[in-house]
Amino acid sequence: MSITSKYHFASDNTSGICQEAWQALEESNQGYHPSYGADEITAQACERFRDFFETDCEVFFVFNGTAANSLSLASLCQSYHSVICSDLAHVETDECGAPEFFSNGSKLLTARSLLGKLDPTDVERLITHRTDLHYPRPRALSLSQSTELGTVYRAGEIAGLCTLAKGHGMHVHMDGARFFNALAGSTSSPAEITWKAGVDVLCCGGTKLGMAVTEAVVFFDKALARDFEYRCKQAGQLCSKMRFISAQWLRMLTDNVWQTHASRANRLARRLAEGLGNIPGVQILYPVDANAVFARLPESIKTGLKARGWQFYSFIGGGSRLMCSWATTEADVDAFLEDARR
Ligand SMILES: *Cc1c(COP(=O)(O)O)cnc(C)c1O
Repeated sequence: MSITSKYHFASDNTSGICQEAWQALEESNQGYHPSYGADEITAQACERFRDFFETDCEVFFVFNGTAANSLSLASLCQSYHSVICSDLAHVETDECGAPEFFSNGSKLLTARSLLGKLDPTDVERLITHRTDLHYPRPRALSLSQSTELGTVYRAGEIAGLCTLAKGHGMHVHMDGARFFNALAGSTSSPAEITWKAGVDVLCCGGTKLGMAVTEAVVFFDKALARDFEYRCKQAGQLCSKMRFISAQWLRMLTDNVWQTHASRANRLARRLAEGLGNIPGVQILYPVDANAVFARLPESIKTGLKARGWQFYSFIGGGSRLMCSWATTEADVDAFLEDARR
């Protein structure tokens, strides 16, 4: 088996486009439609989001997560504000300063995270330890759901953090690059783990779910969406052939397609963790709430797996990170486990 035909556990964005999204692309590749989101498919997709979240929200589509996070945070903050996030947050570690750039300088303040989650006590300390005008004023709290360590905040945990933030006049942003995996791994409804808990804006991940080049920015607090389309346009994030993006979303949010793919990824991650956990010397580092497995692998196992062409990262979260996606199969997981046992 060549390396490229072997499943890549390195990330959930190494997979291709799922069948439903691909079909939606094909079906929308007919005739002529108004451009820049003025088409009927886009209107329907936005309406579908409102049904999904059971509320009247504003929805925008951009090309990737870095843009979704940066532009939405910029709409919550002035340049002299700050954003509180986890020290492991993608906005801090993997966006090349884009949140600061697009907000014209809002500073990210990082808090320690426990299993990838923010702790209210640490957040409160960061908010209150300076209140003078020489320090950037905390204005947004950013949570990742699921977290960078593959854990999922429960509705109550989100509500606690949101209440704290709002008590200090802050807005709440959720980086949901893997929102659907979190949702599939949760007993709460889409509304319950977002706006009902106090989230103001959600960056809702399409790419890792199995779609082509899109993330949705969902404003539950519609006042914060003011002029957001101008930010998107200026940043080069307004798609002229928007219907191709919208058609995919419409399809993914119909007949629970999102759930089929997200649940599969989560289920295979659990299978992988269970199998790895039974191998002597392997330690599973964090609860597998979504589609990520973090494991401490003995050096001999790690080297052996890499020699057999398995792709995964060993620099995130203090162990080896193994991501499952919509495309992972039982056979992929079992073949990986078999090679790990050798
Ligand atoms: C993948 C990911 C993103 C989005 O990254 P892009 O490469 O910009 O699409 C954002 N947040 C988290 C937590 C991610 O894992």
